[in-house]
Amino acid sequence: MNFGYREVCLDHDTGQRHPESADRLRAVRRALKERHGVEYVAANDADLDLVRTVHDPDYIDEFREFCDDGGGDWDADTVAVEATWDAALASAGLSVWAARAAGTDVSDRDTPFALGRPPGHHAVADDAMGFCFINNAGVAAQAALEDGADRVAIFDWDVHHGNGTQDIFYDRGDVFYASIHEDGLYPGTGAVDETGRGDGEGATLNVKYRPGADTADYLAAIDDCIAPAVADYDPDLLVVSAGFDAHEHDPISRMRVSTEGYGAMTARMRNLADDCDAGLGFVLEGGYGLDTLSDSVATVHEVMDGYRPMEPDGDVSDEAREVLDELAERGFGS
Ligand code: ZN
Repeated sequence: MNFGYREVCLDHDTGQRHPESADRLRAVRRALKERHGVEYVAANDADLDLVRTVHDPDYIDEFREFCDDGGGDWDADTVAVEATWDAALASAGLSVWAARAAGTDVSDRDTPFALGRPPGHHAVADDAMGFCFINNAGVAAQAALEDGADRVAIFDWDVHHGNGTQDIFYDRGDVFYASIHEDGLYPGTGAVDETGRGDGEGATLNVKYRPGADTADYLAAIDDCIAPAVADYDPDLLVVSAGFDAHEHDPISRMRVSTEGYGAMTARMRNLADDCDAGLGFVLEGGYGLDTLSDSVATVHEVMDGYRPMEPDGDVSDEAREVLDELAERGFGS
């Protein structure tokens, strides 16, 4: 794969003991060093006018001033330092690069993956939340639309609901947002009956699973619900909001996706993008076990490089089936 990366993203210093640390990117880079076919690309900062079409301009000014004044606690768990502004613009810029580098004529081996931080999917139009300041995937989608795409789909497999991404596009029909997330975790949004509004009705799809969902449950959500819905939507670009905190050994969730499971999900995203004749790009979100995060990103890379991941043995749980049946009744999937 081609990985978008900038050193400045390490300068967003969240202090001791914060799970969203620069060590995450360092661990991923170490793991990728041992793999073949890894290329790094340093993209430009995101264009501020573009960022302001996704976020309230007053919020962006406020965020900039907050960093200029040295940063601090934006909220209980969202912290900034002076360099956070530069890191956030770089991180958003990497996701814009991923959107632009993801074309239908791009080979699997050249599929872009934006390795930025701070992450983005909790950032709403007018506020920072949940370690996120600029909604990277949202800015990427907006960039693709401004470049001429008619429709963009975002699939968010981070264990948390991407409330920010949902919020930004909730009443728009040009961006489809689908998420699988753990019930009971931050920020509490993403119920199955949140399906969009107005022009966006039917363009939001939430698979909210109880704790303990495993790889088979995740793959069933994709096969039976998300992939058919995205194929119906027929996007020009598929962006994966790729957090790795649903991993069975991640310290902050109780989901049980295996490393190999991220590979299986990656293969499905590649096939889905092919079926839709859409570009495919990945944008890093969460993932807080350094080993599980780095192994999982490396597995995404290996699958795009030709490795065929193993399918899980287990069956879909009754709890997961219930959620998928409810979504089918709402018109999502088979
Ligand atoms: Zn997360």
